[in-house]
Amino acid sequence: MARRSTPAKKKKPATRGKTTARKKPGKKPGGFRRLMLGAAMVAGAVSAIIAAGSMLELDRAAHKAVSDLSASSPAPRAPAPRNTSKPPKMDFSKGYDAPNRPGYMVERTPEDIDKSEPDSLPEPRISPVPNVNPAPLPEAQAPANMQLAWQKFATRVPDTGTAPVIAIIIDDAGIDKPRTERAAELPGPITISYLPYATHLPEQVASARKRGHEIMLHMPMEPTSRTVDPGPHALLTSYDKVAILNEMTWMLDRFSGYVGVNNHMGSKFTSDPERMAVVMQVMKSRGLMFLDSRTSAKSVGYQEAEKYSVPAIERDVFIDDADDATKIANMLDRVEHVATKRGYAVAIGHPRDLTLEALNKWIPKMQAAGFIFVPATDIVHRNGIKVTG
Ligand SMILES: [Zn+2]
Repeated sequence: MARRSTPAKKKKPATRGKTTARKKPGKKPGGFRRLMLGAAMVAGAVSAIIAAGSMLELDRAAHKAVSDLSASSPAPRAPAPRNTSKPPKMDFSKGYDAPNRPGYMVERTPEDIDKSEPDSLPEPRISPVPNVNPAPLPEAQAPANMQLAWQKFATRVPDTGTAPVIAIIIDDAGIDKPRTERAAELPGPITISYLPYATHLPEQVASARKRGHEIMLHMPMEPTSRTVDPGPHALLTSYDKVAILNEMTWMLDRFSGYVGVNNHMGSKFTSDPERMAVVMQVMKSRGLMFLDSRTSAKSVGYQEAEKYSVPAIERDVFIDDADDATKIANMLDRVEHVATKRGYAVAIGHPRDLTLEALNKWIPKMQAAGFIFVPATDIVHRNGIKVTG
Protein backbone atom coordinates (compact mmCIF):
# COMPACT_ATOMS: atom_id res chain seq x y z
CA MET A 1 0.00 0.00 0.00
CA ALA A 2 2.52 2.53 1.15
CA ARG A 3 4.90 1.58 -1.61
CA ARG A 4 2.23 2.22 -4.20
CA SER A 5 0.71 5.36 -2.80
CA THR A 6 3.96 7.21 -2.22
CA PRO A 7 5.05 7.46 -5.87
CA ALA A 8 1.46 8.29 -6.85
CA LYS A 9 1.48 11.29 -4.55
CA LYS A 10 4.74 12.49 -6.03
CA LYS A 11 3.75 12.07 -9.65
CA LYS A 12 0.25 13.46 -9.72
CA PRO A 13 0.87 17.00 -8.51
CA ALA A 14 3.41 17.45 -11.34
CA THR A 15 0.91 16.35 -14.00
CA ARG A 16 -1.84 18.35 -12.44
CA GLY A 17 0.36 21.43 -12.31
CA LYS A 18 0.93 21.30 -16.07
CA THR A 19 -2.74 20.79 -16.90
CA THR A 20 -3.88 23.62 -14.68
CA ALA A 21 -1.21 25.93 -16.04
CA ARG A 22 -2.46 25.30 -19.58
CA LYS A 23 -6.05 26.11 -18.69
CA LYS A 24 -5.54 29.12 -16.45
CA PRO A 25 -2.13 30.57 -17.09
CA GLY A 26 -0.85 32.89 -14.39
CA LYS A 27 -4.15 33.18 -12.54
CA LYS A 28 -4.20 33.09 -8.76
CA PRO A 29 -7.51 31.16 -8.48
CA GLY A 30 -5.69 28.34 -10.33
CA GLY A 31 -3.29 28.18 -7.44
CA PHE A 32 -6.20 27.90 -5.06
CA ARG A 33 -7.78 25.21 -7.19
CA ARG A 34 -4.49 23.38 -7.23
CA LEU A 35 -4.44 23.55 -3.49
CA MET A 36 -7.99 22.21 -3.27
CA LEU A 37 -7.26 19.50 -5.80
CA GLY A 38 -4.15 18.55 -3.87
CA ALA A 39 -6.13 18.35 -0.66
CA ALA A 40 -8.73 16.17 -2.37
CA MET A 41 -6.01 13.86 -3.67
CA VAL A 42 -4.49 13.50 -0.25
CA ALA A 43 -7.93 12.93 1.30
CA GLY A 44 -8.65 10.28 -1.35
CA ALA A 45 -5.38 8.51 -0.67
CA VAL A 46 -6.05 8.54 3.07
CA SER A 47 -9.57 7.15 2.55
CA ALA A 48 -8.17 4.42 0.34
CA ILE A 49 -5.70 3.44 3.01
CA ILE A 50 -8.42 3.38 5.67
CA ALA A 51 -10.74 1.42 3.40
CA ALA A 52 -8.07 -1.22 2.92
CA GLY A 53 -9.23 -2.67 6.22
CA SER A 54 -7.55 -3.42 9.44
CA MET A 55 -6.36 -6.92 8.54
CA LEU A 56 -4.50 -5.58 5.56
CA GLU A 57 -3.02 -2.90 7.73
CA LEU A 58 -1.95 -5.47 10.25
CA ASP A 59 -0.45 -7.62 7.54
CA ARG A 60 1.43 -4.63 6.27
CA ALA A 61 2.68 -3.98 9.75
CA ALA A 62 3.80 -7.57 9.96
CA HIS A 63 5.64 -7.22 6.66
CA LYS A 64 7.33 -4.12 7.94
CA ALA A 65 8.14 -5.66 11.30
CA VAL A 66 9.57 -8.76 9.71
CA SER A 67 11.63 -6.89 7.15
CA ASP A 68 12.91 -4.64 9.90
CA LEU A 69 14.21 -7.68 11.69
CA SER A 70 16.93 -8.18 9.20
CA ALA A 71 18.40 -5.67 6.84
CA SER A 72 19.64 -8.54 4.72
CA SER A 73 16.14 -9.82 4.00
CA PRO A 74 14.95 -9.34 0.46
CA ALA A 75 12.06 -7.00 -0.31
CA PRO A 76 8.75 -8.03 1.25
CA ARG A 77 7.28 -8.81 -2.13
CA ALA A 78 9.72 -11.62 -2.82
CA PRO A 79 7.98 -14.67 -4.25
CA ALA A 80 6.91 -17.46 -1.95
CA PRO A 81 9.27 -20.41 -1.81
CA ARG A 82 6.57 -22.63 -3.23
CA ASN A 83 3.74 -22.05 -5.55
CA THR A 84 1.05 -21.42 -2.97
CA SER A 85 -1.72 -21.68 -5.51
CA LYS A 86 -0.98 -25.37 -5.99
CA PRO A 87 -3.26 -27.74 -4.18
CA PRO A 88 -1.69 -29.71 -1.32
CA LYS A 89 0.70 -32.25 -2.77
CA MET A 90 -0.58 -35.08 -0.63
CA ASP A 91 -3.63 -37.10 -1.39
CA PHE A 92 -5.89 -37.24 1.61
CA SER A 93 -8.75 -38.90 -0.20
CA LYS A 94 -7.71 -42.52 0.34
CA GLY A 95 -9.91 -43.30 3.29
CA TYR A 96 -9.93 -41.75 6.68
CA ASP A 97 -7.77 -44.04 8.68
CA ALA A 98 -4.56 -44.41 6.76
CA PRO A 99 -2.13 -44.70 9.67
CA ASN A 100 0.69 -42.71 8.12
CA ARG A 101 -1.26 -39.80 6.82
CA PRO A 102 0.06 -36.49 8.13
CA GLY A 103 -3.33 -35.46 9.45
CA TYR A 104 -2.99 -38.24 12.00
CA MET A 105 0.67 -38.40 12.56
CA VAL A 106 2.14 -37.74 15.93
CA GLU A 107 5.74 -36.94 15.26
CA ARG A 108 7.26 -37.39 18.66
CA THR A 109 9.75 -40.15 19.15
CA PRO A 110 9.88 -42.17 22.37
CA GLU A 111 12.97 -40.12 23.33
CA ASP A 112 11.03 -36.88 22.90
CA ILE A 113 8.22 -38.26 24.98
CA ASP A 114 10.60 -39.28 27.78
CA LYS A 115 12.27 -35.89 27.76
CA SER A 116 9.14 -33.82 27.76
CA GLU A 117 7.00 -35.87 30.13
CA PRO A 118 8.68 -35.55 33.49
CA ASP A 119 7.05 -37.40 36.35
CA SER A 120 6.93 -34.25 38.41
CA LEU A 121 4.03 -31.88 38.07
CA PRO A 122 4.63 -29.20 35.47
CA GLU A 123 5.24 -25.79 36.95
CA PRO A 124 2.76 -23.08 36.10
CA ARG A 125 4.27 -21.15 33.26
CA ILE A 126 1.37 -19.14 32.07
CA SER A 127 2.41 -15.76 30.82
CA PRO A 128 1.26 -12.73 32.77
CA VAL A 129 -2.18 -11.61 31.72
CA PRO A 130 -1.37 -10.42 28.25
CA ASN A 131 -1.28 -6.90 27.12
CA VAL A 132 -4.87 -6.21 26.18
CA ASN A 133 -3.99 -2.88 24.69
CA PRO A 134 -0.64 -3.65 23.12
CA ALA A 135 1.88 -1.04 22.15
CA PRO A 136 1.17 0.54 18.78
CA LEU A 137 2.39 -1.38 15.79
CA PRO A 138 5.13 0.36 13.85
CA GLU A 139 2.85 1.47 11.02
CA ALA A 140 -0.71 0.48 11.62
CA GLN A 141 -2.63 0.41 14.80
CA ALA A 142 -5.95 -1.27 15.30
CA PRO A 143 -8.63 1.04 16.63
CA ALA A 144 -8.54 1.21 20.43
CA ASN A 145 -11.95 -0.41 20.77
CA MET A 146 -11.15 -3.28 18.40
CA GLN A 147 -10.88 -6.61 20.15
CA LEU A 148 -7.92 -8.76 19.33
CA ALA A 149 -8.73 -12.02 17.54
CA TRP A 150 -7.95 -14.16 20.59
CA GLN A 151 -10.53 -12.18 22.55
CA LYS A 152 -13.04 -11.64 19.79
CA PHE A 153 -13.41 -15.33 18.89
CA ALA A 154 -13.04 -16.70 22.41
CA THR A 155 -15.75 -18.96 23.72
CA ARG A 156 -17.22 -17.28 26.77
CA VAL A 157 -17.21 -19.33 29.92
CA PRO A 158 -18.95 -18.57 33.19
CA ASP A 159 -16.87 -17.86 36.26
CA THR A 160 -15.31 -21.15 37.27
CA GLY A 161 -14.52 -20.05 40.82
CA THR A 162 -11.89 -22.29 42.35
CA ALA A 163 -12.94 -25.39 40.44
CA PRO A 164 -10.15 -27.17 38.60
CA VAL A 165 -10.40 -26.61 34.88
CA ILE A 166 -9.31 -28.64 31.88
CA ALA A 167 -8.70 -27.46 28.33
CA ILE A 168 -8.91 -30.22 25.74
CA ILE A 169 -7.52 -29.40 22.32
CA ILE A 170 -8.30 -31.75 19.45
CA ASP A 171 -5.83 -30.90 16.72
CA ASP A 172 -5.00 -32.35 13.31
CA ALA A 173 -8.66 -31.53 12.67
CA GLY A 174 -10.33 -30.90 9.34
CA ILE A 175 -8.83 -33.60 7.13
CA ASP A 176 -10.84 -36.49 8.51
CA LYS A 177 -14.21 -34.80 8.39
CA PRO A 178 -16.37 -37.49 10.02
CA ARG A 179 -14.04 -37.77 13.02
CA THR A 180 -13.59 -34.01 13.21
CA GLU A 181 -17.36 -33.79 13.30
CA ARG A 182 -17.44 -36.33 16.10
CA ALA A 183 -14.91 -34.24 18.00
CA ALA A 184 -17.27 -31.29 17.62
CA GLU A 185 -20.01 -33.42 19.17
CA LEU A 186 -18.03 -33.88 22.37
CA PRO A 187 -19.39 -32.15 25.42
CA GLY A 188 -17.23 -29.21 26.24
CA PRO A 189 -16.45 -26.63 25.38
CA ILE A 190 -13.27 -27.97 23.87
CA THR A 191 -10.90 -26.38 21.39
CA ILE A 192 -10.59 -27.75 17.87
CA SER A 193 -7.47 -26.93 15.89
CA TYR A 194 -7.72 -27.25 12.12
CA LEU A 195 -4.95 -27.97 9.66
CA PRO A 196 -4.90 -25.10 7.17
CA TYR A 197 -4.64 -27.42 4.16
CA ALA A 198 -7.93 -29.14 4.96
CA THR A 199 -10.86 -28.42 2.68
CA HIS A 200 -14.23 -26.83 3.51
CA LEU A 201 -12.69 -25.09 6.48
CA PRO A 202 -15.18 -22.22 6.82
CA GLU A 203 -18.10 -24.69 6.96
CA GLN A 204 -16.34 -27.02 9.39
CA VAL A 205 -15.32 -24.16 11.64
CA ALA A 206 -18.79 -22.60 11.61
CA SER A 207 -20.31 -25.91 12.65
CA ALA A 208 -17.88 -26.32 15.57
CA ARG A 209 -18.29 -22.72 16.70
CA LYS A 210 -22.05 -23.07 16.66
CA ARG A 211 -21.68 -25.83 19.23
CA GLY A 212 -19.70 -23.55 21.49
CA HIS A 213 -16.23 -24.88 20.80
CA GLU A 214 -13.23 -22.67 20.35
CA ILE A 215 -11.18 -22.77 17.17
CA MET A 216 -7.44 -22.75 16.58
CA LEU A 217 -5.27 -23.05 13.49
CA HIS A 218 -2.93 -26.02 13.59
CA MET A 219 0.14 -24.68 11.86
CA PRO A 220 2.46 -27.28 10.33
CA MET A 221 6.11 -26.82 11.19
CA GLU A 222 9.21 -28.81 10.39
CA PRO A 223 9.77 -31.93 12.47
CA THR A 224 13.20 -33.25 13.36
CA SER A 225 12.61 -36.57 11.67
CA ARG A 226 12.82 -36.60 7.91
CA THR A 227 10.54 -39.61 7.74
CA VAL A 228 7.45 -37.69 8.78
CA ASP A 229 5.82 -35.12 6.54
CA PRO A 230 4.20 -32.13 8.20
CA GLY A 231 2.21 -31.43 5.04
CA PRO A 232 2.15 -28.59 2.55
CA HIS A 233 3.03 -25.04 3.55
CA ALA A 234 4.86 -26.21 6.66
CA LEU A 235 7.31 -23.68 8.08
CA LEU A 236 10.85 -24.90 7.54
CA THR A 237 14.09 -23.88 9.21
CA SER A 238 15.62 -23.38 5.76
CA TYR A 239 13.22 -20.50 5.12
CA ASP A 240 14.19 -16.89 5.51
CA LYS A 241 11.90 -14.46 7.25
CA VAL A 242 10.04 -13.45 4.14
CA ALA A 243 9.35 -17.05 3.17
CA ILE A 244 8.01 -17.74 6.66
CA LEU A 245 5.80 -14.69 6.43
CA ASN A 246 4.47 -15.73 3.04
CA GLU A 247 3.59 -19.24 4.16
CA MET A 248 2.03 -17.96 7.37
CA THR A 249 -0.08 -15.50 5.43
CA TRP A 250 -1.33 -18.28 3.17
CA MET A 251 -2.25 -20.42 6.15
CA LEU A 252 -3.76 -17.68 8.29
CA ASP A 253 -5.92 -16.46 5.44
CA ARG A 254 -7.49 -19.87 4.80
CA PHE A 255 -10.30 -19.29 7.29
CA SER A 256 -11.24 -17.06 10.15
CA GLY A 257 -12.80 -17.38 13.56
CA TYR A 258 -9.74 -18.85 15.28
CA VAL A 259 -8.27 -17.53 18.50
CA GLY A 260 -4.73 -18.60 17.85
CA VAL A 261 -2.26 -21.13 16.59
CA ASN A 262 -0.73 -24.32 17.86
CA ASN A 263 2.09 -26.12 16.13
CA HIS A 264 1.54 -29.31 14.13
CA MET A 265 4.76 -31.33 14.58
CA GLY A 266 7.53 -28.71 14.59
CA SER A 267 10.08 -30.30 16.89
CA LYS A 268 12.82 -28.82 14.69
CA PHE A 269 11.23 -25.50 13.80
CA THR A 270 10.02 -24.61 17.29
CA SER A 271 13.53 -24.99 18.64
CA ASP A 272 14.79 -22.24 16.30
CA PRO A 273 14.53 -18.95 18.25
CA GLU A 274 15.17 -16.67 15.28
CA ARG A 275 12.40 -18.21 13.21
CA MET A 276 9.99 -18.55 16.10
CA ALA A 277 10.52 -14.82 16.69
CA VAL A 278 9.22 -14.19 13.17
CA VAL A 279 6.21 -16.38 13.90
CA MET A 280 5.51 -14.40 17.05
CA GLN A 281 5.73 -11.06 15.24
CA VAL A 282 2.96 -12.23 12.95
CA MET A 283 0.95 -13.64 15.85
CA LYS A 284 1.22 -10.31 17.58
CA SER A 285 0.22 -8.33 14.53
CA ARG A 286 -2.88 -10.51 14.11
CA GLY A 287 -3.87 -10.47 17.76
CA LEU A 288 -3.57 -14.25 18.15
CA MET A 289 -2.63 -16.49 21.05
CA PHE A 290 -0.13 -19.33 20.84
CA LEU A 291 -0.39 -22.80 22.26
CA ASP A 292 2.99 -24.48 22.30
CA SER A 293 2.19 -28.13 21.55
CA ARG A 294 5.66 -28.91 22.91
CA THR A 295 6.45 -31.63 20.45
CA SER A 296 10.01 -31.21 21.64
CA ALA A 297 11.47 -30.38 25.01
CA LYS A 298 13.69 -27.90 23.13
CA SER A 299 10.79 -25.77 21.92
CA VAL A 300 11.28 -22.05 22.48
CA GLY A 301 7.73 -21.22 21.40
CA TYR A 302 6.58 -20.15 24.82
CA GLN A 303 9.62 -17.97 25.52
CA GLU A 304 9.44 -16.28 22.14
CA ALA A 305 5.73 -15.64 22.61
CA GLU A 306 6.47 -13.98 25.93
CA LYS A 307 9.09 -11.75 24.31
CA TYR A 308 6.49 -10.39 21.92
CA SER A 309 3.65 -10.24 24.47
CA VAL A 310 1.74 -12.91 22.60
CA PRO A 311 -0.67 -14.66 24.98
CA ALA A 312 0.75 -18.14 25.33
CA ILE A 313 0.06 -21.43 27.02
CA GLU A 314 1.71 -24.82 26.89
CA ARG A 315 0.49 -28.34 26.50
CA ASP A 316 0.77 -30.47 29.62
CA VAL A 317 -0.34 -33.87 28.34
CA PHE A 318 -0.67 -35.61 24.99
CA ILE A 319 -3.68 -37.86 25.43
CA ASP A 320 -2.98 -40.25 22.59
CA ASP A 321 0.67 -40.49 21.74
CA ALA A 322 -0.22 -44.15 21.68
CA ASP A 323 -3.41 -45.18 19.92
CA ASP A 324 -4.17 -47.58 22.74
CA ALA A 325 -7.17 -47.51 25.08
CA THR A 326 -5.22 -48.34 28.24
CA LYS A 327 -2.53 -45.76 27.53
CA ILE A 328 -5.16 -43.14 26.70
CA ALA A 329 -6.87 -43.87 30.02
CA ASN A 330 -3.53 -43.43 31.80
CA MET A 331 -2.98 -40.10 30.08
CA LEU A 332 -6.47 -38.93 31.06
CA ASP A 333 -5.62 -39.85 34.66
CA ARG A 334 -2.60 -37.65 34.30
CA VAL A 335 -4.73 -34.77 33.03
CA GLU A 336 -6.92 -35.15 36.09
CA HIS A 337 -3.86 -35.21 38.33
CA VAL A 338 -2.41 -32.03 36.84
CA ALA A 339 -5.76 -30.21 36.97
CA THR A 340 -6.34 -31.28 40.56
CA LYS A 341 -2.90 -30.28 41.80
CA ARG A 342 -2.34 -27.13 39.78
CA GLY A 343 -5.88 -25.93 39.09
CA TYR A 344 -5.75 -26.32 35.35
CA ALA A 345 -4.46 -28.69 32.72
CA VAL A 346 -3.96 -28.41 28.98
CA ALA A 347 -4.27 -31.66 27.03
CA ILE A 348 -3.99 -32.34 23.32
CA GLY A 349 -5.63 -35.25 21.52
CA HIS A 350 -6.44 -36.17 17.95
CA PRO A 351 -9.55 -37.13 16.00
CA ARG A 352 -9.09 -40.88 16.41
CA ASP A 353 -11.70 -43.44 17.37
CA LEU A 354 -10.15 -44.51 20.67
CA THR A 355 -9.49 -40.94 21.74
CA LEU A 356 -13.00 -39.78 20.89
CA GLU A 357 -14.61 -42.77 22.60
CA ALA A 358 -12.53 -42.21 25.72
CA LEU A 359 -13.25 -38.48 25.86
CA ASN A 360 -16.95 -39.01 25.28
CA LYS A 361 -17.15 -40.98 28.51
CA TRP A 362 -14.47 -39.18 30.47
CA ILE A 363 -15.64 -35.58 30.02
CA PRO A 364 -19.12 -36.10 31.57
CA LYS A 365 -17.56 -38.16 34.37
CA MET A 366 -15.10 -35.39 35.15
CA GLN A 367 -17.81 -32.74 34.93
CA ALA A 368 -19.86 -34.71 37.45
CA ALA A 369 -16.81 -34.75 39.72
CA GLY A 370 -16.60 -30.94 39.64
CA PHE A 371 -14.05 -30.29 36.91
CA ILE A 372 -14.92 -27.58 34.42
CA PHE A 373 -13.99 -27.84 30.77
CA VAL A 374 -12.78 -24.59 29.31
CA PRO A 375 -11.50 -23.38 25.96
CA ALA A 376 -7.82 -22.61 25.42
CA THR A 377 -8.29 -18.86 25.89
CA ASP A 378 -9.52 -19.41 29.43
CA ILE A 379 -6.12 -20.82 30.37
CA VAL A 380 -4.45 -17.60 29.21
CA HIS A 381 -6.16 -15.80 32.08
CA ARG A 382 -4.84 -18.20 34.70
CA ASN A 383 -1.68 -16.72 35.99
CA GLY A 384 -0.26 -19.73 37.73
CA ILE A 385 -3.21 -20.22 40.05
CA LYS A 386 -2.54 -23.08 42.38
CA VAL A 387 -5.18 -25.15 44.06
CA THR A 388 -4.19 -26.65 47.36
CA GLY A 389 -5.10 -30.16 48.43
ZN1 LIG B 1 -0.64 -32.12 14.66
